[in-house]
Amino acid sequence: MEISKDKVATLNYVLKNDNGEVMDESQDGQFTYLHGASNIIPGLESALEGKKAGDSMSVSVAPADGYGERDLAQIQQVPRNMFPPDVDIEPGMQFQAQSPEGQMMVVMVTAVNGDTVSVDGNHPLAGENLHFDVSVVDVRDASPEELEHGHVHGPDGHHHE
Ligand code: ZN
Repeated sequence: MEISKDKVATLNYVLKNDNGEVMDESQDGQFTYLHGASNIIPGLESALEGKKAGDSMSVSVAPADGYGERDLAQIQQVPRNMFPPDVDIEPGMQFQAQSPEGQMMVVMVTAVNGDTVSVDGNHPLAGENLHFDVSVVDVRDASPEELEHGHVHGPDGHHHE
């Protein structure tokens, strides 16, 4: 069975950046996704089209087909009192915030200077070329319920993240 729209594929992958550092990986068939539902970045999804269980490949994805370019407008200085008073704010902490358009987004603290906190709302992999080594473990038909929801359900039935 080939990977195509409405199939569920199980992958093993290693993701490296331009420096060859491992940014993310999934082994032992822990990663599954619904093909054709924009569950994964476009550059990887299109490269997987037509692949079968047992196939391996290396694919490089530019930011435009990955997590987008880094947007300097997403880097902001906010007052310390926007954060919970009982939490020590440190670089690397992540918080949910609301964008000016009202969407929920995750921002990461990049610096704390007195009463000012610098946050970055870009995806950590924004602006990065992504180099994947991928092997296809399994391909199956999606269930009607998975297609209705637009994502994969686990082996024990329904689960949502
Ligand atoms: Zn669901």
